[in-house]
Amino acid sequence: MAPVIDLGSDQEGKWGMVIDQDLCMGCQACVTACAVENNVAFVGEDDAGYGRWMHWIRIERLWTGEYPQVYTGFQPMLCQQCGHAPCEPVCPVYASVHSSSEQTNLQVYNRCVGTRYCANNCPYQVRAFNWRDYQQSLPLSNMYNPDVTVRRRGVMEKCTFCLQRIRHVEDTAHSENREVLDGEIMPACAQACPTSAIVFGRIDKPESQVSHLAGNARNYKMLEELGTLPRITYLKGGSSHDGSG
Ligand code: SF4
Repeated sequence: MAPVIDLGSDQEGKWGMVIDQDLCMGCQACVTACAVENNVAFVGEDDAGYGRWMHWIRIERLWTGEYPQVYTGFQPMLCQQCGHAPCEPVCPVYASVHSSSEQTNLQVYNRCVGTRYCANNCPYQVRAFNWRDYQQSLPLSNMYNPDVTVRRRGVMEKCTFCLQRIRHVEDTAHSENREVLDGEIMPACAQACPTSAIVFGRIDKPESQVSHLAGNARNYKMLEELGTLPRITYLKGGSSHDGSG
């Protein structure tokens, strides 16, 4: 059976995510977990005022309906790991590249020269640029996750699907001579979500939970008309309300 998420004609996809907007309550636990897991900088009020926030995931708020029947919806927004990623062809140094084995969108920090073309060409606006050196000195540097690079000034960064966690589980499965189990890999955002609104897994395997959810009637892709072939899809919110999420 072909995968439900369109992976493009010449590609086999691997990792993907489905986010249920009916379950998301906008608590932002995923934002915090992502920041701590991936050494994402907190830029402070002044830089945030300039739009220089660094979070790899943000919660969009949506309102539909007329008072008093107003429905509030939330949409976690992060790198959509596009199959046809608009950020890739505009990078002059191939820092934004496609993983041929996993069909994810990678960012090679030590190649990036900071032109920010990728961020300007991303329709989802999910890339963050290091305007300053945000590295902490001791003892606060002890808080950093040693499995994740601490990026320097002038470098673009974004969600990696917690690649370090993927590799850790893959290595464990390999050493035990078995396949990675469905649901065994849990990105930080999915692990922290109190309502299990975020589901991660293999979108090229029809029996996986993420593939089942991708086949749900509420499933849609963000800005699908652009032809970016996102690996993240959403389950439309507001199923018990008169409005979309
Ligand atoms: S942790 Fe879950 S419920 Fe909270 S904002 Fe993130 S996706 Fe929504």
